[in-house]
Amino acid sequence: MAEKMAFKAEVNKMLDIVINSLYSEKQIFLRELISNASDACDKIKYMALLNPELSKDAADLKIKISADDKNNTLKISDNGIGMSKDDLINHLGTIAKSGTADFVNNAKDNGSSVDLIGQFGVGFYSAFMVAKKVEILTRKAGEDKAWFWTSDGVNGFEISPAEKKDSGTEIKLYLKDDAKEYTDTIYLRQIIRLYSDHISYPIVLDLGEAGEETVNTGSALWTRNKAEITKEQYNEFYHHVSKNFDEPWLCLHFKAEGNLEYTGLLYIPSTQPYDLFQPDQKNGLKLYVNRVFISDKVEELIPNYLRFVKGIVDSSDLPLNISREMLQQNPLVAKIKNGIVNRLLKELKKRSENYDDYMTFWKAFGTAFKEGIYEDFSNREEIAALSLFASTHDESKLTTLDEYVSRMTSDQKAIYYITGDDVKILANNPQLEAFKAKGIEVLLLTDPIDEFWTQVLLKYKDKDLKHISQAQDDLTFERKGEKAKDDDLKALAEFMQKTLEGEVAKVIPTEKLTTSPVSLTVENGQMSLHLERLMRNHQQQTAFASTKILELNPYHPLIIKLSASLKDKSDLVKEMTLILYDQALIAEGEAIKNPKGYMERVSAYMLNCI
Ligand code: ADP
Ligand code: MG
Repeated sequence: MAEKMAFKAEVNKMLDIVINSLYSEKQIFLRELISNASDACDKIKYMALLNPELSKDAADLKIKISADDKNNTLKISDNGIGMSKDDLINHLGTIAKSGTADFVNNAKDNGSSVDLIGQFGVGFYSAFMVAKKVEILTRKAGEDKAWFWTSDGVNGFEISPAEKKDSGTEIKLYLKDDAKEYTDTIYLRQIIRLYSDHISYPIVLDLGEAGEETVNTGSALWTRNKAEITKEQYNEFYHHVSKNFDEPWLCLHFKAEGNLEYTGLLYIPSTQPYDLFQPDQKNGLKLYVNRVFISDKVEELIPNYLRFVKGIVDSSDLPLNISREMLQQNPLVAKIKNGIVNRLLKELKKRSENYDDYMTFWKAFGTAFKEGIYEDFSNREEIAALSLFASTHDESKLTTLDEYVSRMTSDQKAIYYITGDDVKILANNPQLEAFKAKGIEVLLLTDPIDEFWTQVLLKYKDKDLKHISQAQDDLTFERKGEKAKDDDLKALAEFMQKTLEGEVAKVIPTEKLTTSPVSLTVENGQMSLHLERLMRNHQQQTAFASTKILELNPYHPLIIKLSASLKDKSDLVKEMTLILYDQALIAEGEAIKNPKGYMERVSAYMLNCI
């Protein structure tokens, strides 16, 4: 008896998008089904290692493609792991992966989401681009029962018990009338070579009376000689392992020799994946031991800040029966990881010499990469050297720390930075006025991670790295023009401090401002206003807040006048203090507490001017 089941709601939506909007590149369905068959062969090979009873099932693994042009069907068979009834329901009836909802939304927004199919783990459904009906006959290795699954991709699916001699899966597509070309063996051979040549199991094309032909090269791509691999083959392998379909920005194929031998085939995508900053995202490299697939997404092989790197590592020095738990403790795994990091950093260094090229990488992954300055103690300085920053030197171009150092003035004591939400707001922060006056460059840091790595990278090469609020003493420069009288200024500062009680801890004169009357800063060494804001936004702000200081510019005409008028017009000075404080907050990118009060005050003064 066949059981009828409905697809989960999101599957229906997704099928609709896959079938209807991705029409133009429908031949990729074959790549997806072959990729699944190859994964299934990987899995049985690995299972057989742990369970020798299965080893007879894991022999002669291959993928077979047979077309029937009379009945207009196409069959893709493998003798891999197969599927149990639960597998069929869970893997083909629902989309278990958390990215599905994102896929649906993404595909709706930008239409051309063929690139995303694999990435979201919905490759199987691409079969419905060419098939009006799909039948699956499958038996899981180690189980007696086989199952028959069928669906038209619209009205759910049916499952019934079946018979099957060997373990593995047969997928039969009843082709749509406009997909007849997929019974043409010449065309099939061509697309298999194009998309699936790197697959490490033989892909055998059934030629009917003419026999069978193995179409792909059939040896694992990374074991082949670099000189014999074309760019297209490297790219297709990238699509297979990463499930991305962009052009990789970096492809690194290497063999480490010596007392620890391993091969790596690593890629950096050219575009940022949607989930780069999703904390629950599993990353990592695929691990093989002597060409036997061991595990997907081995996080122990790549540090978190390089989580965007995709690819495989194959080592003959690891034990074949290594389990996931053992990976965490194995010292060789840690060594391989270090080796990989060194190679990647070296490669990035080479590529960083071409600014435009490097910017492709930096735009997509720079924010994640900078986490390494914080995270990877032993490579801290190297990662910092490979990082790019906005700076006051040139708004149109990011700078490296080395370039910054080369521009430092002779009496400049440190590398200075300021942190905030937005480069433009930062560039106009009054706190930078003295730096501009002295011709000192300041880095404008706007990523939340910048607040953290700057806490640990206190020096770069032999130069101190300092927030501009720590620069007080270094910034004397010659001042000209009228200045508020000392006594008046002192009285004004005291008056303002009282007026702003609860808001700022101190009001003090400064020599650092040129064009702004006031500016807000924090006590030297304390959490910056930006970090405080970040913590507040993440509801992590608890008891501690930095001591805020309002600085006055004694050379500014407004401050001169205010200090001279305090005795006679204290009510007015009080009003203006409130306005000035709000302005200082605005310049910092902070929200003001009473926008309406601010507007009313300013409007009142504007009225006086007309
Ligand atoms: P993904 O390959 O990213 O997991 P797919 O939609 O391509 O997503 O496949 C969904 C799941 O269906 C696979 O993860 C696998 O568990 C199962 N599956 C698909 N094809 C096969 C097959 N030929 N043999 C065994 N399992 C398969
Ligand atoms: Mg797949």
